[in-house]
Amino acid sequence: MAKRHEVTELLGDGIAEELCRSVRAVAASLPVEIAFDTVNLEHSNRRAAGRPIYDQAAASMRRTGAGIKYPTATIEESPNAVLRKLLKFAVIHRPVTTIPGLKTHFTGKIDLDIVRVATGGTYEDPGQMIGDYAAVSLRMVDRKTCEQAAHYAFSVAARDRKSLTSSSKYTIQRVTDGLFEDIVADVAKEMTFAGQVEHRRELFDALLAKLVMKPEAFQVILVLNEYGDFLSDLASGLIGSLGLGASVSLAFDDRGRVSVGMFDAVHGTAPDIAGQDKANPTAILLAFSLLLAHLGEPKAAGALRRGLFDCLDAKEATPDLGGDLGTQAFTEAVIRRAAERLKG
Ligand code: NAD
Repeated sequence: MAKRHEVTELLGDGIAEELCRSVRAVAASLPVEIAFDTVNLEHSNRRAAGRPIYDQAAASMRRTGAGIKYPTATIEESPNAVLRKLLKFAVIHRPVTTIPGLKTHFTGKIDLDIVRVATGGTYEDPGQMIGDYAAVSLRMVDRKTCEQAAHYAFSVAARDRKSLTSSSKYTIQRVTDGLFEDIVADVAKEMTFAGQVEHRRELFDALLAKLVMKPEAFQVILVLNEYGDFLSDLASGLIGSLGLGASVSLAFDDRGRVSVGMFDAVHGTAPDIAGQDKANPTAILLAFSLLLAHLGEPKAAGALRRGLFDCLDAKEATPDLGGDLGTQAFTEAVIRRAAERLKG
């Protein structure tokens, strides 16, 4: 009998409802049993309920350990930023893979796991003016968060038999980036299985050039916050779309194990096409596939991912990718293809 999983479902705005229907239909078609605990993060409800709705979302995710979040409009506050603080997300893992059938300028094959320290760097400090003609900001590199990110990145690399590249500007930013690279090296020594993982470090500027020239040389890449931000967008551009990305934000317990994973699409609420059956559910379905893997359902996760790619390769796609299928018809095509993959 299939194991029953409980998953938190965070509703959102714009195309969120259509994406949610797509995920629910796919979930019902796969050999997995999932009970969704729904928390309504639609803007109208956030405004009416205030802070308690976020507390409810965080409490549910702490209990279930896994959540799928639909895009939310950033109006008064950014729900992602609020949840990141409440749940202490330390790492963002973003897989970026060449998508079959998608037209791109770049012809190399990308298959990357970008593991990014989710906090710190220069992003926490708005900076301050020094007189009228200069400004400064603090750049923060936090030991504990880097350790969590390094443990996680080595675990992913060991699990998937991949190499790991840590990247920064350790020759210039000697104290901050130097600390990061020292922590990564310490974690590599300390983790028994990390010895099985080929680890090398690259200066971040050189990494960007090498990634474009020889993408197959990189598998798991571990980076600090800002570098991860730039790298994720570059990699998404190389595969031909910023809009097809999925990511997971991760929090860890005291022993460094993942305690909560929040899975979402990188794109926003697409208000211009909301309610028109035009939304492309690829990114949220890729996020759902990652969630299934996180729940320990690799067969269903793999079938969904391959089913999605089979559809796109066969030009069964939504209008944003030049196809003529609506959200619902595309979802049905994915369900058919995933079922074929499960049989095969
Ligand atoms: P957006 O990603 O929503 O839309 C940009 C363009 O991409 C639009 O033309 C849209 O139609 C298209 N697009 C996006 N997702 C699509 C999909 N799944 N299928 C087909 N087309 C798609 O970005 P935006 O317009 O800058 O932001 C709109 C709202 O989304 C804002 O309120 C913003 O704050 C919010 N947002 C939320 C998240 C999140 O919840 N994670 C992320 C980004 C933006």
